[in-house]
Amino acid sequence: MSGPGQQPIFHTVITNPEHSGGPDKGLRPPPDPGKPSLLQRPCLYLTSFVKSLPVIFISAIVMWSYYAYFVATVLGLMEDRTEQIVSGTIFHVVTALFLWSYAMTVFTPPGSVPVSWRLSQEKIDCLAAAKSEEEWKQILGRETERLGCDVKQRSVQNAVRYCEKCLCIKPDRSHHCSVCEVCTLKMDHHCPWVNNCVGFSNYKFFLLFLGYALTYCIFIAATTARHFVTIWLLKKEDEEGVAVHHSAAKYHLLFVFFVSLLFSMSISSLFGYHVWLVLHNRTTLEQFRAPMFANNVSDPSGWSLGKMNNLREVFGTSAWMWLIPVKSYLGDGISYPSRNYGLEIPDYKINGVHDNPGLSNVHHVQETPSRILTNPTIGVGGVISVTETSNSMVRLDTNGLTKTVMVAETDLGID
Ligand code: ZN
Ligand code: ZN
Repeated sequence: MSGPGQQPIFHTVITNPEHSGGPDKGLRPPPDPGKPSLLQRPCLYLTSFVKSLPVIFISAIVMWSYYAYFVATVLGLMEDRTEQIVSGTIFHVVTALFLWSYAMTVFTPPGSVPVSWRLSQEKIDCLAAAKSEEEWKQILGRETERLGCDVKQRSVQNAVRYCEKCLCIKPDRSHHCSVCEVCTLKMDHHCPWVNNCVGFSNYKFFLLFLGYALTYCIFIAATTARHFVTIWLLKKEDEEGVAVHHSAAKYHLLFVFFVSLLFSMSISSLFGYHVWLVLHNRTTLEQFRAPMFANNVSDPSGWSLGKMNNLREVFGTSAWMWLIPVKSYLGDGISYPSRNYGLEIPDYKINGVHDNPGLSNVHHVQETPSRILTNPTIGVGGVISVTETSNSMVRLDTNGLTKTVMVAETDLGID
């Protein structure tokens, strides 16, 4: 790929600034990982196979549960014709929606940073040559303006966020995924069970996948419970006192009942958590660390626009589309309305329903936390000093010597 006298195109780290210079620097195309060599390919195939094992595992469980529930239990053990028809019909509708949303989560790319947000080689070299944090911030600030990138979020150093791996300015709410090795828009988390990042474009599908998986498990557990009791606990017998069911079907019934019960318990907590996150317009990552805005304002609810608007941002404005795994989200994944920037708050009104928090609320970021937050300052030598605040807006300072982090009082064991 690189000719004699040229530097290779494949850069993943900020290179030594002393190598920079030359009139053609700014014209170099953005870094590209390129194609793997023939030697690398078997390793990549093996890695991608290992990564897809959880998806294969889930698919196998679903296939077995289909057989165990529909073939063995509904067709084999249910004696009432009406029960068979009703159970079979509902089961197939739920299964179809479940598999559809699962496939959409697995195969929909979560959204990546546009090429236009990448820095030119000239600017990358400038950043590498920056002599102070201030100069680094200024270069990034100027470049963000020049490229026309609309960013509200800042790093803890109050700088425009920049990915040193992708060599691009990070759009609001995006994060670098170390598994996918790329920045993901509105990244929630990397999910091995779907072998994909869950982010801006597939978050709705992920939620529907959880919701339908839960429905699938609860439905199976609820409709097999009665048969489990009569066959396994009451040991149903015929007139001669011989057990009615000796077949493998009753073992499928036993396992499908317990497996669906276990899965419904574990999925319900995860689903409930994500419903809460959607209503508060937070990603899993933002729930761990609140986004920072200009002037060192850390606001965990910075993207929240009111519960109904938050829901519409992920599921769209047509309520009848909410439960169908098709694309209906609002926005472009690059810029988001924020209640810290009042004039940009959209009014997602439907049928005259108005639940915009309104401009009067915008400058009162006062979601009172349920517990008092402390603000411990870790100084040189790991000495911790603590100041208390009862407000969720915490100003963080990083001056190279001290690092301020937000933790709960209870986590420190301080009275
Ligand atoms: Zn990145
Ligand atoms: Zn990922």
